[in-house]
Amino acid sequence: MLTTYDVIIVGAGIFGITAAVELRQRQYKVAILDPGPIPAPLAASTDISKVVRMEYGADETYMSMVEESIAGWTQWNDAFGEKLYHNTGVTMLTRKPIEPGEFEYESYQLLRQRNHLPERLTADDIARRFPAWKPGAFVDGYFHAKGGYVESGRVVEVLLQHAQELGVTVYAGQTVQHVVLENGRIQGVQTVDGRIFKADNVLIAAGAWTPIILPELEPVMRATGHPVYHLKIGNSTLFKPPHFVVFTADITSSGWYGFPLHPKHDVIKIANHGVGQLLHPVHDKRVVSDADIRQLRRFLEETFPALKDATISYARRCLYCDTLDEHFWIDRHPEIEGLTVAAGGSGHGFKFAPILGKLIADALTGQANVWLPKFRWRDLGNETQGEEATRHHNK
Ligand SMILES: Cc1cc2nc3c(=O)[nH]c(=O)nc-3n(C[C@H](O)[C@H](O)[C@H](O)COP(=O)(O)OP(=O)(O)OC[C@H]3O[C@@H](n4cnc5c(N)ncnc54)[C@H](O)[C@@H]3O)c2cc1C
Repeated sequence: MLTTYDVIIVGAGIFGITAAVELRQRQYKVAILDPGPIPAPLAASTDISKVVRMEYGADETYMSMVEESIAGWTQWNDAFGEKLYHNTGVTMLTRKPIEPGEFEYESYQLLRQRNHLPERLTADDIARRFPAWKPGAFVDGYFHAKGGYVESGRVVEVLLQHAQELGVTVYAGQTVQHVVLENGRIQGVQTVDGRIFKADNVLIAAGAWTPIILPELEPVMRATGHPVYHLKIGNSTLFKPPHFVVFTADITSSGWYGFPLHPKHDVIKIANHGVGQLLHPVHDKRVVSDADIRQLRRFLEETFPALKDATISYARRCLYCDTLDEHFWIDRHPEIEGLTVAAGGSGHGFKFAPILGKLIADALTGQANVWLPKFRWRDLGNETQGEEATRHHNK
């Protein structure tokens, strides 16, 4: 006889795995399915690092969510006995003086309003404290000591093991094709091999693949590919904290951001948070073009001269599951009883890992949560604008 689970989770990225841990802690019988291996090499959650920043312009909801997330990351560092969150601080720098309405200005003001202590920087401060930056090229911005990065792929591994220890059943090697319904109610899922998994509740957390499983979401979320590079140089002393930390470089007009030298992988990761390229998660290749590389080299020359000729040891276009308004999508299906979706990470979801499980479990079980309304099931259309404050929107 088939086992019936309380909850089947489709997708073992950061949305799925944090939900699995939380739901198991609430005593539900949980299984998680993924094509595997986990962490999945093509998942958004994989890769060596993700930025953790409080800065979201004037958006106080996200800032308050990151405040709680950072407390959670610190707790996880202790609980798992491994440094997964590196509190290097962040630099958010600009080529021109910052002005009201701009991401850096609004973030700086909101940080102060909420009693954080960002340190405003002049061109001289930048040259003195962060010598890898081309002298005089960046003239304003700030350093904020709270924030940094997490070792994202490793976080998924650690949480997967934790979930298994708590009693979550993990099925790697299972690709879900569709949900199984009867009289408008969830019965479970069916895999591409025709195998049925039964459950009272199904959570679809399949990142960029979500609309393939639930095509009705195609109009509101899509996969976009964004360039990511790992750089190697002979002498990397200039690129270590505290002299080089997580940074954004005029991000809303350039998209560029990056990380200090990775302590385990010995590379400097630089990526672009822009509009990206529409790509199909199954059929399209995730490669960067010669034009992409030329843009990277130009940025490096204008910003970090010592990286100008650095060897690119890894490059790919990595897929966001982008909602049209760039806010996450965490809610129960409005018509299908027992079906919940947690997706739409939109290039900024990983930092919230310590609070994601609770958010998703609250949505699935119908409990109130002050942050959930922002991520509700909603109507989005051609006129919808992306609202994530750091993103370069090509305007
Ligand atoms: C290039 C890049 C840079 C980013 N940088 C940052 C950052 O600096 N800071 C930050 O906070 N966030 C960042 N993000 C966003 C963050 O990584 C995502 O929001 C988050 O990882 C999304 O997690 P997820 O679980 O929704 O999706 P994913 O991690 O993509 O996981 C989806 C899972 O579903 C599985 N799956 C797919 N199809 C099926 C199927 N049919 N059946 C079963 N399982 C399936 C996949 O194998 C995968 O394991 C970045 C994202 C990208 C791509």
